[in-house]
Parts: sequence; structure tokens; C-alpha cells
Amino acid sequence: MNGSVAIVGAGVIGTVAAIELNRLGYEVTLIDREEPGSSGAASFGNGGWLCPASIIPVSVPSLLWRLPSLLFGKSAPLSGNLGFAIRNAPHFLRFVTSGLTHKRVRHKAAALSTLLSDSVARHQALAMEAGLAQLIRKDGLLYTYGTERAFRRDLGWWRLRRDLGVNWTFLDGKTLRAEEPGIQRDCFGAVLVIDGGHCIDPAAYVRGLADYAQRCGVHFLRAEVTQLIHADQRLVGLETSNGTFAFDAAVICGGAHSRPLAQGIGDDPPLLSERGYHVGLPPGQRLRRPVMFDDALMVATPMAGGTRLAGQVEIAAPETAPDWSRAQALLDLARGYLGALPADIRQPGVSVWMGCRPAVADELPIIGRATNLNNAHFAFGHGFTGLGAAPATAALVCCSLQPGRATNPQNSPFSPQRFPARPGRAL
Ligand SMILES: Cc1cc2nc3c(=O)[nH]c(=O)nc-3n(C[C@H](O)[C@H](O)[C@H](O)COP(=O)(O)OP(=O)(O)OC[C@H]3O[C@@H](n4cnc5c(N)ncnc54)[C@H](O)[C@@H]3O)c2cc1C
Repeated sequence: MNGSVAIVGAGVIGTVAAIELNRLGYEVTLIDREEPGSSGAASFGNGGWLCPASIIPVSVPSLLWRLPSLLFGKSAPLSGNLGFAIRNAPHFLRFVTSGLTHKRVRHKAAALSTLLSDSVARHQALAMEAGLAQLIRKDGLLYTYGTERAFRRDLGWWRLRRDLGVNWTFLDGKTLRAEEPGIQRDCFGAVLVIDGGHCIDPAAYVRGLADYAQRCGVHFLRAEVTQLIHADQRLVGLETSNGTFAFDAAVICGGAHSRPLAQGIGDDPPLLSERGYHVGLPPGQRLRRPVMFDDALMVATPMAGGTRLAGQVEIAAPETAPDWSRAQALLDLARGYLGALPADIRQPGVSVWMGCRPAVADELPIIGRATNLNNAHFAFGHGFTGLGAAPATAALVCCSLQPGRATNPQNSPFSPQRFPARPGRAL
């Protein structure tokens, strides 16, 4: 036995990390205030994409001149609370500057590709082992383009993706119509990401993986973790709503809610929640494979229960009430592509959900050892790609706990130490 490890957060990141650490011989306890697969986690309601091409960050040099089209208009994908944005201005400044040059974007894309390039194969292997193979599909993923101009604008990024190993091909409008008769708008064409796949029920997947983890010997504790307890620069345990527990090590996988725990031990990750929405359409499949429509930052994914529309980036505090007009915007936008759809999200058979993406200012997750405690580790901040990146992240968590085993995440682009720790909080 390698010692006891607490994993805080039973979203997809924490659950997959629990399975891998258990495999290495750690005595693992997975802790969450909710049951795994619950709707409070981003892992519950995401778009299901396992996409090796999701490596181009949102912040690119052209972002500033594209902002008006992203922000304004009824179905615009970006929205937010101005007061919240102003209070977090340093975060957004860092976000914009992290993508100001092509060199910076290339650096981030290369880093993300190490987490996503073999995402489908890793998920297929994990799902097979856990008896969940039916939840993972490898049918490819489509990015449609309404006009040749829109496609040409993105072509440089597609070339970069190809340089980084993404296997894609272009389908012209006629071929796209034959491949996806459900898309009713005339498109210039689409990029097919050949090695892409999707999960047809992300909540059931996390629930199933957590069940499998427990069958393998992982313990589950339902509790809110309020603090990491430390002495002599080592973590000694966790304070929770269910009492205090001793552990030899801990990994914080709390998604968008990880920051207070990290701050409590002296780190200060620039992590915010970026709220997203989904709309579940009434049963009946409209698409053969998942589709991203133009630049709408929205995907439509054929799920077990029907097509799911997922997207929107809403800058607002996680605890404020959902703005369901953002879900209605998804439905209105999708109607332009998929034809006859319910007019209103309140119609029978339509379901809606809001969740918080864990967004780090430079759009790279934070994976590795805490600055002040050698036996506290972080794995959060996966933004748009946490489902896809979960298996590769779990491998890095294993390396972080066992330095020297392989690439040390402390030296990687995901290192927590790329951000300054809290001033005056050396422990
Ligand atoms: C609309 C939308 C669409 C998306 N689409 C995709 C997609 O298609 N593909 C993709 O790869 N990614 C997608 N994502 C992103 C993806 O869902 C997230 O990156 C991923 O789910 C993050 O997983 P996580 O385990 O880090 O966090 P979560 O899933 O949020 O899990 C964190 C868990 O930690 C628990 N927790 C937090 N703090 C504490 C505490 N103090 N004590 C106890 N428990 C705690 C929470 O209860 C929660 O269960 C999408 C996200 C959204 C919102």
C-alpha cells in the first residue's frame, strides 16, 4: 500500500484520478458534497465531446475584434454580469494577454494536445474496463462552416491542429448534406475530426465510473471539504462537514469550486467559473454525429436521451440564479440549423441545465503539487475540455504523487507554480 489519498471532488476528473491512484496501490477516498454524477457538477451536463481538436484557446490574437459579434445579439454566445467582470478584471486581462500572439496560442495548443490527442482511445479503454463501453462512441466530430470566408478565417488553426497530430478532413457542402441530412442549413462545408468521439451520457458515465472505483476498493465519503489541515509544511488531513480525517496526501479536483481550498494552503490560482447551459431536445435523433455550428460556441450532440445542445459562456458568479434566456438562445440558434424544433425551452419534453466550467485565466488546467505542501496536489481548471482530458490528467496526477515515475507535472505547462502564490502565505 502506498498510503492514503483523499480526492476532493467526484466529477469526471476526480473519479478517473481515483481509479488510477487505486490501481497504483493507494488507499483512495473520493469525497464530494453530492453523489457522483449529480447535476451540480460540470461533468453532469456537458456536450459529451472527446475532441483531439479542442486545443485552440478562445483567447487568440483576433479575439478583440471578434468580441462585438460574440457579445451582442439575441443568440450571442458570450454574456455576463458587468459588475462580476469588473471585480475580476485582472483575470480577464490575463486571459486576453495569454492569447495575444500566435506563439502563445501555439504553446497552449501544444500543451492541450498532450491531454487530448488520444482522448477517445483512453476513454474507450477505461469504459471497457468499467463495463461502460456502450457510453463511448467514435463516430468523428463535425465543425460546420456557413461560408468559405468563415472557413478560410479558421484554416490557419486547422493547419496548426494538423501539425500537432489532429487527423481531420474537409467535407464540401454536398458531402456534408449526404453525411448529415439533419442539418437543414446550406453550409459551405465542414471539417470532420476523424479521431473524435463522444460520450452519449456524461452523467451516467461518471456515476458508472464511481461505482466501478468503489468495486475496486475506493471509498466514497459524502461531505463538504472545508479546509486542508497542515502541520510542518505537510498536509495531515481534511476538515469536512462530516468530521476531520487524517490522510497522507490529497488531490483537489473540485472543478470551478477549487480556489478557496487552494488559497487556504497559500496558492492563488486565477480560477473563475464560466457558466454554460444545455438544452435537452425531446427524444428522437436529429444527427448522426456531434456537430459544432460555425462560430456559435455551441455543439449539438446525439445523446442517449435525444439531441443535446450545449454551449454559451456566461461570466457570472456560480451562486447567482441561472439566466434561462441563455438556454433559450441555444434553442433559437439551433433552429436555424436543425429546422423544426420546439419554440420554447418550457415546452414539454425539453430539459435545461446550467453548470460551471472551471476556467483558468490562461485556459490551461492546473495539475501538479501545491506550492507549500509537498503532499497536496491540484487537478482542476479544465474549462471546455475536462471530460476529454480526464484520463491524461489522471496519469499526470499519478506522476505528481510519485515524482520520478514519468514526466513531472511540476515542469509542465500545467504547473500550479506558473502563477504567483498568495503574498505572505508561505506556510
Ligand atoms: C455547457 C458545457 C459544455 C461542456 N462540454 C464539454 C465537452 O463537450 N467536452 C469536454 O471535454 N468538456 C466539456 N465541458 C467541460 C467539462 O464539463 C468540465 O471541464 C469538466 O466536467 C470538469 O470536471 P471536474 O471534475 O474538474 O469538475 P466538476 O465536474 O464540476 O466536479 C467537481 C466536483 O467537486 C465537488 N466539490 C467541489 N468543491 C468541493 C468541496 N469543497 N467539498 C466537496 N466536494 C466539492 C463538486 O460537488 C463537484 O461534484 C463543458 C462544460 C459545460 C458547462
